[in-house]
Amino acid sequence: MIDGLAGGELIEGLSDGELSDALVLEDAGDTGFGFEVDSRLDGQGRTGTITTPHGTIETPAFIVVGTKATVKAVVPESLLDLGAQAVLANAYHLYLQPGSDIIDEAGGLGSFMNWQGPTFTDSGGFQVMSLGSGFKKVLAMDTTGLGDDDVIAEGKTRMAHVDDDGVTFTSHLNGDKHRFTPEISLQIQHRLGADIMFAFDELTTLMNTRPYQERSVERTHAWAIRCLAEHQRLTVEQAGKPYQALFGVIQGAQYEDLRRQAARGLAELEVDGRSFDGFGLGGALEKRHLGTIVGWMSEELPENKPRHLLGISEPDDFFAAIAAGADTFDCVNPSRVARNAAIYTADGRYNVNTAASRRAFAPLEDGCDCYTCTHYTRAYLHHLFKAKEILSSTLATIHNERFTVRLVDNIRTAMKAGDFEAFRDEFLGRFYASRRLPQQLLK
Ligand SMILES: [Zn+2]
Repeated sequence: MIDGLAGGELIEGLSDGELSDALVLEDAGDTGFGFEVDSRLDGQGRTGTITTPHGTIETPAFIVVGTKATVKAVVPESLLDLGAQAVLANAYHLYLQPGSDIIDEAGGLGSFMNWQGPTFTDSGGFQVMSLGSGFKKVLAMDTTGLGDDDVIAEGKTRMAHVDDDGVTFTSHLNGDKHRFTPEISLQIQHRLGADIMFAFDELTTLMNTRPYQERSVERTHAWAIRCLAEHQRLTVEQAGKPYQALFGVIQGAQYEDLRRQAARGLAELEVDGRSFDGFGLGGALEKRHLGTIVGWMSEELPENKPRHLLGISEPDDFFAAIAAGADTFDCVNPSRVARNAAIYTADGRYNVNTAASRRAFAPLEDGCDCYTCTHYTRAYLHHLFKAKEILSSTLATIHNERFTVRLVDNIRTAMKAGDFEAFRDEFLGRFYASRRLPQQLLK
């Protein structure tokens, strides 16, 4: 059985006249959402402030990921301490468990997880794509199979099927069949109640052919129109609730013309008097071309709307994307690798599991201001990991999230002071000292 939400009906109990009044009021009213650019680099890079009904976000900013309404192993109070400005959760996961109706009844995502600040939800498009192809990481994608549209990871079963109307997929939890359409994704995200939502898009892999990427950009644009229409309908219907901003998601893989066409199309799009409040820079991005591709999109997008780059957290990627005009970022990696004992420091990444940390009675990183480093030693963390104590995940995650949030904060500070390039060269020189500097930084 296909499990979907009822949708598509007009607002109950309103006559035509009242409906148009409601639309006009919404257009003229203050949504509580906005973005202002504070300062600019020579190219596309900028610092700014995103205003939401639950507080502001100084950009560039790293948004911590709480996939299932929790940053794994870390209490929300610790997230505040480590400087997180906002949390991003996942519409797909929360729809399956506990159900978007329960989060709605709890007063929305922030209220449910006791996070008072701004929240984001992604549309579920990425998870549905992962189910479709079996791949986890877009940036690390192997492109040896280039040219094959029926991409599926070895040993995986296809769990999602895309058509022009939406996606039918099998729950990874219990095998139940579900269906996402642009309308259903927006209905779920409105129930989750995050300040910033993403339009439902089709995410392709780098292995899809050029004709498939073209069709996918067209399909994503058609879905964007439906997302905006449904967003407007729900916004009017829920007029008493805080406004939820909607970001359009730009696809187009590695093709300059497709990226520019997709960005321009979404930037100009207006449905029922509503346009996108910001943009998600999505999809398959080859690491070595990251800055170039982000730059193509930034050139086509309006200056006064924020741009969120989905799914990056490596230091060199931050610098490249920020210089090219990206404002906010999210990624599960800092917490995921922390649970495997991988620790980020200004001198690169190391594993606290190895014998070198057994008697290291020093912080995970010298000079780090995080709770873990100011209270515990590498030797203690080494012991916790060896003994498989769950506190290891908590303490390592706090450090890695603090490292990542602080890095982007420091980039913002350097930009405002006019020191972006000097800070970049110094930071990356030190971080990658033991490795070859990434190609995009040698230009
Ligand atoms: Zn630390």
